[in-house]
Amino acid sequence: MNAENEFAPRELAGEAGALWLDSVPAFDGVTAAFATKKTLKEGPAAAFAGKPLDEDGRVNEEYVARLCATLGFPYGRLATCRQVHGTEICRVALAERRWCGECDGLATDVVNAPLAVFTADCVPIVMWAARPGALAVLHAGWRGTLAKIIGEGVSRLEESWAARAEEVAVFLGPAVGPCCYAVGDDGARAAEAAFGKRAGQVLTEEGGKRRLDLHRANELAAQEAGVLPENVYRVATCASCEEGLLESRRRDGDEAGRLMAIAALETAKAEGHGNGD
Ligand SMILES: [Zn+2]
Repeated sequence: MNAENEFAPRELAGEAGALWLDSVPAFDGVTAAFATKKTLKEGPAAAFAGKPLDEDGRVNEEYVARLCATLGFPYGRLATCRQVHGTEICRVALAERRWCGECDGLATDVVNAPLAVFTADCVPIVMWAARPGALAVLHAGWRGTLAKIIGEGVSRLEESWAARAEEVAVFLGPAVGPCCYAVGDDGARAAEAAFGKRAGQVLTEEGGKRRLDLHRANELAAQEAGVLPENVYRVATCASCEEGLLESRRRDGDEAGRLMAIAALETAKAEGHGNGD
């Protein structure tokens, strides 16, 4: 990946302790944020000591409402889903508080209708096609990554809104890095099956441990789907190494919280699209 497509967390750090895509020109027209541990300590979220997801993977409504308030997104128009490590992507056609059931991606062309996913090590992905003005937010753990949910996201933007893959910009949010992500036989086999001869680009072996690079795998899968290399961006960090900033299941096990990735089409810049209200 080009150095100018990689951002350190401090380069994206903005209001409410979150990482924002404001400074990435390819995402003009979208307001997107990755809430961090710092976000939880700010504003309305601070007084609430729950977890964003319950044991069953359902969104904790009060928690997420407070996070939205802290970040300035309208909770009453938010779409979320129950993430199941698949490749299903739900199309969101109305700006209302919406529970999309079991899926791992949300896509919309409706302005000011935020989409959110929750992660702790898995990759949160924001995809944006400025023309025609369509947005997707995906959750990609190793299963979803190697099943190439990112390719499904591109297909969804193409099929639903006639976007062209070469016009799609992709941002890979904070996730566990290969430094801290050893995988077992099933993960290694899935990587080999997914990438064949190129598996060596995503899977490395060191000291008898195989490590998977989730960002690299999503980058490769995006390119297979027709996304141009110069349109793939990422935050260069590791959720497990960045203990003060990011949640990590690998590091903290069941004690880990969840980071919220949230994005919405901006009203002013997406005029003529969506429901326009
Ligand atoms: Zn690490």
